[in-house]
Amino acid sequence: MIIHQPEIKVQNGEVRVSARVEMQKEIVDFPEKLWFTFPEENSPFVTDRADGFLTSLIFPAMYLGVPIEVRGVVSPKLAYNIETFQKIHHLMLPNIFQPMEVKYNTLSELPTKEVLGGVGTSFSGGIDSSYVIWNHLTKPKSNPLEQLSHGLFIHGFDISLNDSEIYQSLYRKYLQFFERWGLTLIQARSNYIEFTKFRINWLFAHNGLQIGCAQVLGKLFNRFIKPGGDEMSEGHVEEPGYHIHLLSTGSMDVSLHSPYILRLDKLSRMAEWEDIREYLWVCSNLEKQEDGNACNDCAKCLNTLVYLDLLKLQPEFVNFPNPLSIKLFLKFLVRNLYLSVGMGYYKEHLTRFAKLAGRYDILIAFWLFYIPSEIMIMLKLKFLGLIPRDLKYKIKQRVYR
Ligand SMILES: [Zn+2]
Repeated sequence: MIIHQPEIKVQNGEVRVSARVEMQKEIVDFPEKLWFTFPEENSPFVTDRADGFLTSLIFPAMYLGVPIEVRGVVSPKLAYNIETFQKIHHLMLPNIFQPMEVKYNTLSELPTKEVLGGVGTSFSGGIDSSYVIWNHLTKPKSNPLEQLSHGLFIHGFDISLNDSEIYQSLYRKYLQFFERWGLTLIQARSNYIEFTKFRINWLFAHNGLQIGCAQVLGKLFNRFIKPGGDEMSEGHVEEPGYHIHLLSTGSMDVSLHSPYILRLDKLSRMAEWEDIREYLWVCSNLEKQEDGNACNDCAKCLNTLVYLDLLKLQPEFVNFPNPLSIKLFLKFLVRNLYLSVGMGYYKEHLTRFAKLAGRYDILIAFWLFYIPSEIMIMLKLKFLGLIPRDLKYKIKQRVYR
């Protein structure tokens, strides 16, 4: 994989930074360009360095098992640490990622005097990114480096590039909150998902988009806080994304926010926060609800509804107008049977909160599904491991498109 020199273009009120991605052999549906777009007023902050492109494309390169040659400027710090980053991904997920050689043309740090010094985080309206904001608002830090200044709302993260209307309507809603919080919300758009779709689990691939996007805005941020997403559980590191700090450059530190606090605990801490009651939105359904309500069909809407029910908060959350019925709870259990994490993910925190709430119905149903779920995961991993990758890609593409 050759990552060509990134180019900056200002057009139609937007600034786009793109790089040609050349492959030595043909990969089905693999785009020829990776691009990141921002509103034009962000032009002074974008850079034509290749840091963000390497950070993004390292995931498909590790998955496809192809070496990389980078023809733009890369941070020596990133180049040094990306070897360890790759090895950790391989050790934790050997069937998905292989460490690959990366060749560089030019290694040089972005002078810190060229960086404005903002502190950014990505924001999607979900539990993890809200927790970063809530923490910032309720626990102001004395260290100015820790004060948040910007949020990145990335189109192409959990909203398809075809769903412009939903993205724009959510942007207008979130912008009002950011103004109230005294923070700047930046719109961003990227086709990164096209490089990973139906190939790499988004749980692992999404880091490439968030950090890559922040690095393309390299003249804005000297720190980027990535919302934690349950990378740790019961004191153990569960996901390679825990080591995201290895993608820092000499001019931008990357850190992970509270990877050890699970989502149900985060939600219970934010329970009294009026703002999140008004906007919380987690849907991952490809067909989003036009009214912005929870679809009550995807695993994310369903597990959040279960959390809200356990915390007795469902009536307070505007986008979750329907209470948890037996039918919806069964749907939650069945949806999770088919997910890669299964019911094991909920074992500690869901049972803890169910006991606290005296919800023995939920506890019993959970344990009834727990063992079949573990067996399903074991069989699924064995069975899926037997299917060649290209065939798996074609099946997923047909099923989900
Ligand atoms: Zn949903």
